[in-house]
Amino acid sequence: MGLCKLCKKKESIKNSHLIPKFTTDWIRNTSDTGKFRTSVLPNKRVQDSKKVDLLCGDCENLFSKFEGYFSKVIFKPVMNSNNPVVDYPVVDYTESLLKFAVSLSWRILVFKMYGYPWKILDHKLAAQKAEIRWREYLLNNTEMKDEHHILMLGFVEDAPEIEGTDIDMNFYFRRSVDADIAQGSKESFVYTKLPGFVFISPIFPGTHTHMVDTLIGENGTLEFYKQAIDSTIIKFLVRRFNQTLSPIRTISERQWAKIEADYSKNIDKIQDSDVFKLFLMKEQKKNRLNSE
Ligand SMILES: [Zn+2]
Repeated sequence: MGLCKLCKKKESIKNSHLIPKFTTDWIRNTSDTGKFRTSVLPNKRVQDSKKVDLLCGDCENLFSKFEGYFSKVIFKPVMNSNNPVVDYPVVDYTESLLKFAVSLSWRILVFKMYGYPWKILDHKLAAQKAEIRWREYLLNNTEMKDEHHILMLGFVEDAPEIEGTDIDMNFYFRRSVDADIAQGSKESFVYTKLPGFVFISPIFPGTHTHMVDTLIGENGTLEFYKQAIDSTIIKFLVRRFNQTLSPIRTISERQWAKIEADYSKNIDKIQDSDVFKLFLMKEQKKNRLNSE
């Protein structure tokens, strides 16, 4: 038994989600077989995201308020719009978005930072200090002076594919979850990818200069077409995509047969699914290219 890592007063309840459950629920509910397939081990079905020993019941309730806000006001309206490129809604947000972003980055940081292979001492020390500031903000509502960013992910034309499969970068962007501390020689940040959204919280230095119009304020408006990223972040996302989804190549013939059988059993569901939406967009693009 351990103490809650946020309030450090009560016993933790050992069932906190590192990645909020509503995101993996969404993947499952919009998938063509109705089951969530983990991207790290694509040949094994999992019904849930990873649960960790992190929070007490009270702190879990606090986080679920922020999650409820993000899910209802931002995540679902954006992800359930008909076409992830054309119909990107413009979303107004309140401070609850900042709370949600900090709660997300804090739990990834606190879960990963202690065993993390830090190469640069300054980055490690900055991480320890950031963890304290983010915890204080979540617990005691202290002023948040650190940067936290949100990037909306759209459909990528000419998306790179995993060699030998038709799984492309759009699958990573829309249908997988991923989180880690990212470390380079000059900078470190906490990276969390949910379906359709990336959150980046810089650790060292305190400013993140690779993205435009992604900084979360106390309130504001999210606009897909105003956001932009530079080549550093593009390369980073392509690398994460390859690392996360490459294991799909190791699926055996027997496993593919099982996947195909599941597909044909659920043919009605496929037509409404988000995977089918992505497939249609790919086909439309091919047809457009062929007719040119
Ligand atoms: Zn607690």
